Amino acid sequence: MELRKTFQIEAAHRLPAVPPEHKCARLHGHSFVIEIAVEGPVDPKFGWVMDFADLKGAFCSMFESLDHRYLNDIPGLENPTSENLALWIWNRLKPTLPLLTEVSVAETCTSRCCYRG
Ligand SMILES: [Zn+2]
Repeated sequence: MELRKTFQIEAAHRLPAVPPEHKCARLHGHSFVIEIAVEGPVDPKFGWVMDFADLKGAFCSMFESLDHRYLNDIPGLENPTSENLALWIWNRLKPTLPLLTEVSVAETCTSRCCYRG
């Protein structure tokens, strides 16, 4: 069984590796939608894989680090593409959330990346 929980952060970034004339080289922001997926058996006693509140709790400290921030200032996110943000989140979540199977990051309604480890 799979559980998915969605979070939204507001954050600014610019992409330092693209040519200066590329629009993403300019400072801009996104309402990033981050989705965390976990997979595991349903506990027969509780009838759930895990408590959604524990999923929220696992992401909580990251939310504080990312929301309303300039992502380029965060160690490890000097080039804050959606791909690097998904990796950054995965690497911090996986040790405390062993059931984690996917981190997805959408920077717009039509552009999203998924990392599965
Ligand atoms: Zn952007």
